[in-house]
Amino acid sequence: MDLASLSVDRVKEGLGARRFSAVELATEALQFAETENPKTNAYLHFSPERALEAARRVDQRLARGEDPGPLGGVPVAVKDVILTKGVRSTAGSKLLAHYVPPYDATAVIRLERAGGVILGKTNCDEFAMGSSNENSAFGPVRNPAAPDRVPGGSSGGSGAVVAQGTAVAALGSDTGGSIRQPASFCGVVGITPTYGRVSRYGLVAFASSLDHVGPFARNVKDGARLLQVIAGRDEMDSTSAFAPVPDYLSQLDGKVNGLRVGLPREYFQALASETGDLIQRGIETLRKLGCRVTEISLPTTDYAVACYYIICTAEASSNLARYDGVRYTTRASDPENLIDMYRKTRGEGFGAECKRRIMLGTYVLSAGYYDAYYLKAQKVRALIARDFARAFDEVDAIVTPVSPFPAFKLGEKIDDPLEMYLSDIYTITGSLAGIPCMSVPCGRTAAGLPVGMQVLTRHFDEAGMLRLADAFERAGGVEG
Ligand code: GLN
Repeated sequence: MDLASLSVDRVKEGLGARRFSAVELATEALQFAETENPKTNAYLHFSPERALEAARRVDQRLARGEDPGPLGGVPVAVKDVILTKGVRSTAGSKLLAHYVPPYDATAVIRLERAGGVILGKTNCDEFAMGSSNENSAFGPVRNPAAPDRVPGGSSGGSGAVVAQGTAVAALGSDTGGSIRQPASFCGVVGITPTYGRVSRYGLVAFASSLDHVGPFARNVKDGARLLQVIAGRDEMDSTSAFAPVPDYLSQLDGKVNGLRVGLPREYFQALASETGDLIQRGIETLRKLGCRVTEISLPTTDYAVACYYIICTAEASSNLARYDGVRYTTRASDPENLIDMYRKTRGEGFGAECKRRIMLGTYVLSAGYYDAYYLKAQKVRALIARDFARAFDEVDAIVTPVSPFPAFKLGEKIDDPLEMYLSDIYTITGSLAGIPCMSVPCGRTAAGLPVGMQVLTRHFDEAGMLRLADAFERAGGVEG
């Protein structure tokens, strides 16, 4: 079994032909993942009991002649900000180092109901704050394509396990780019659905109006399969949408001839040349497929990074208030009184980036500055969303780079938060607008570093986005 190149189709074939059982596959996949993990530190911990239990259920269904489900027997990984009952869920934070949740996230329940086998939990930036995975309390992740470089973040572990082949697919979360940017850096597919398309129940909250759960996969079809399983209304999350979920696989028909694709000029100005060249070659493939490519403008793009870092820090400062040493968390020892206990617990528990964001968020929400910062940022957010709405009057899809540069070296940007924040300059806008967006591999630089192309569509048009990305992938991407 070549685990490193397994896809959902191959798992289905193998199980169908009785070449292996789900338990055999899970056992081998766990072994492989445990042996390979020291190279990347992508998994934080494994969940062998849970994986084998799920695999046994798949084998039982198969033995009874039943359908094992759309993900029957498929080894998957889950970002550690997504809760798993009975399996430690740390969110990459020292504060939750020993937290074992009493319930499962909805996306996890749905994955397992579809036959998915969860091998373990993946490393990430603390509370999903970061672009390089270096803010994890449990050490950074190394990029499988270049071990001296970051895998991107915050879902760096999920990107890395799929690229490394230690899981066939994975779940991540995206607030401002945390699925698309690591997918791009690691050379895999990463999908951020429309806000509300996938339930956030059981996702550790960072910035609730921006948080999304979404899949990583080795190809668009597998990504579509995972999305199919986790999407749809959930009564446990009142912000999850009632919009019906179409059959995504049937939309992957390669028919993109005549599709109107917009290239926002603001996204092509400050690109590193190799990234820019690859994206241009990708666009050439889209043209050959019959797409009608035009230049468009999203004039408020310049304000997106500032707007995002006001809104997300404001929401983070509120969400992180719950880690007080009373609930969930490890409590600091020997406090003098209650206030001292809060102070010590939070002071010792949070890493530098979380502290920075709590301070910034508290400041922008303070009585004297609320109007000047938070309220203003909300208005700018509405303008950014309006830019996209207008653009989608003219085009069916928007194509951009995912990040201005490929994976950078470990340590290169960690001391310069502003430089780090620029990693997400092209992904933050889609998050603020709440529209579906994804990264699809678009070749590699001369040094072998993967580059991703971003595809964005209207609210709830994941089908159109997946169709375009799938057609691009089938045409050979940049080689097409
Ligand atoms: N890198 C961005 C940040 O640090 C996005 C993180 C995310 O999407 N979770 O906030």
